[in-house]
Amino acid sequence: MEEFEAGGDAPPGLEAVFKRLIGATGPISIAHYMAEANAHYYNRTDPLGAAGDFITAPEISQMFGEMIGLWLADQWQRAGKPSMCQFVEFGPGRGTLAADALRAMAQFDFHPRVHLIEGSTALRMAQKIALPQATWHDGLDSVPREGPLLIVANEFLDALPVRQVVRTEQGWRERVVLHDGERFRPAAGPRPMDSVVPPALASSPPGTILESCPAAAGMAYEIAARLKAQGGAALFIDYGYATAQTGSTLQAVRAHQKVDPFSDPGLSDLTALVDFAQLKQIALAGDIDCHGPVGQGDWLMALGIGQRAALLGRSRPDQAKQVAEALDRLVSPDQMGSLFKVLAYRGPGWPVGAGFEG
Ligand code: SAH
Repeated sequence: MEEFEAGGDAPPGLEAVFKRLIGATGPISIAHYMAEANAHYYNRTDPLGAAGDFITAPEISQMFGEMIGLWLADQWQRAGKPSMCQFVEFGPGRGTLAADALRAMAQFDFHPRVHLIEGSTALRMAQKIALPQATWHDGLDSVPREGPLLIVANEFLDALPVRQVVRTEQGWRERVVLHDGERFRPAAGPRPMDSVVPPALASSPPGTILESCPAAAGMAYEIAARLKAQGGAALFIDYGYATAQTGSTLQAVRAHQKVDPFSDPGLSDLTALVDFAQLKQIALAGDIDCHGPVGQGDWLMALGIGQRAALLGRSRPDQAKQVAEALDRLVSPDQMGSLFKVLAYRGPGWPVGAGFEG
């Protein structure tokens, strides 16, 4: 597997930058730390795949993107085949999911325009090879305001910076990152944060951490408003929880191993679990319908991934074993099947998507 190099082989001294910043102005927030570390991380190189740091569902098998393409084509058909649609993917990685989905959609004679929202220059270059027809954006704002939007975000929201507050003996404080002379480590910051804590949780025991993701919330609000205005649907697929919980879910992965999120910033992938309960609340506030979350395994099985795997296995007997293994990774509850969840938004007049009925 090729290594995709764009910005050089080491981040330009992120560790030194953080040390200088913390030395000059004091500890930085967890959100600031995570945002900068991930921006460096994704810009440095292509982290995906067996030779990289982690593998995502579209990189496991073409079946994943194909099922998403089928879901979108079905939505489009049942919405009366509107003539001009905008396919939008947030954080498309190598472009694999979009390429597989668009191929599946083309079998239904559905050819939406392709818009990719990507922050990393290195990954934009990889995406250009997979999807030469695409247009790139920094955010949803520049995506055309005419035609329904068909939006996909797979393992995107988990990469956005989370904010944490922690209960101390003196009340709630923002959780920050300091440098103790040897290493970075999390600590309770100096400023009171009691006003951001919901009353029901205000008197949690000292040490309790509450996590939120303002960046994900902001994007979800924007998506809901655009679906309300333009029609269409959005699929959010990620690992996360369906009912509010406490505790830090920040984690770092490097070379397929969990590592300390506070060592070597910019050299590992930082993620946090997605709060699906919040995504549901935002749909309600934005006056659009929301379905799920359902487990990725159940959802893919309802869409017919089992039949697709059988067909692929029969047409390429030499690869039947790999196909069966990939299917297992995507759907088994002890693999990605239940930790990963799928949630859909739909604009006015758009159908309840396949896999969310009942
Ligand atoms: N969806 C892909 C890649 C997941 S990795 C897959 O499933 O394989 C996360 C992706 O989100 C990468 O493409 C990364 O560069 C992008 N990303 C992370 N934070 C971003 C941000 N703030 N703005 C735009 N893209 C971002």
